[in-house]
Amino acid sequence: MINQQLITKIKSAKRVAVLTGAGISAESGIPTFRGAGGYWRNYRAEDLATPEAFARDPKLVWEWYAMRMQVCLDAKPNPGHEIVAKMESYFPEFLLVTQNVDNLHARAGNTKLVEIHGNIFTARCTSCQKKFKLEGVPKQIPVRCESCDALARPHIVWFGETYDMNLLQSARSFLLKSDLIFIIGTSGQVGVPVQLASEAIAHGAYAIEINPENSTISNQVDMHFANSSGEILPKIWQEIIEK
Ligand code: NAD
Repeated sequence: MINQQLITKIKSAKRVAVLTGAGISAESGIPTFRGAGGYWRNYRAEDLATPEAFARDPKLVWEWYAMRMQVCLDAKPNPGHEIVAKMESYFPEFLLVTQNVDNLHARAGNTKLVEIHGNIFTARCTSCQKKFKLEGVPKQIPVRCESCDALARPHIVWFGETYDMNLLQSARSFLLKSDLIFIIGTSGQVGVPVQLASEAIAHGAYAIEINPENSTISNQVDMHFANSSGEILPKIWQEIIEK
């Protein structure tokens, strides 16, 4: 419930973190992995977003990413993304940690952004490790390195892979000193990001979750809005601006 106590809590927060997952982009038309539409040519995401799948069939994996890139290019940031972008300039200290790879937060205007699972529009050479931007859906698949022509892969943290420790550490050090955290549209099935949120809560952050369903962190948060983010975030924001 959006009551005066909650509004005061949000307005007085100095250091605010937002953790987002696939759910915030659902209203932009980008399917979550675990919801309806999670299958592609009878493959589950968990069978394609792995180093093993890429080693077996890089063309198939790139075809899946090319399809997803087109979906991301066709999508637009929704009111949920827009409010998260407004938060960045409202709070004195702010960090957005997203599990999403769809680029919609950047397109909505967020710059204080850690893309903890990478970005679908970045490729990485499997040989020289160079990272390079993909401006649109690649015409040639599988993608090859723009420098050394070796096989390139999507710059994404796949199932079973380790995180970039520098990125993870920078997110963690911000979160542990946050006084408020929003956890939006994540099931918590991928453990590391919600573990960060859980640690922030243990260090005293007030936690607001937005998710129509329960997640693995729902029992730890102070407030759970069982709503879609594109619907409730503008309502919360309206109250903050007006009161
Ligand atoms: P998930 O698919 O496991 O869970 C999505 C969550 O969003 C669910 O709990 C669901 O109840 C909730 N949700 C659905 N619609 C919502 C809405 N309108 N508002 C708020 N919440 C809503 O997603 P995850 O926890 O992010 O983990 C999946 C992994 O897959 C992540 O690592 C992510 O990188 C990747 N992924 C990214 C995208 C993307 O970039 N948009 C899309 C699919 C998967």
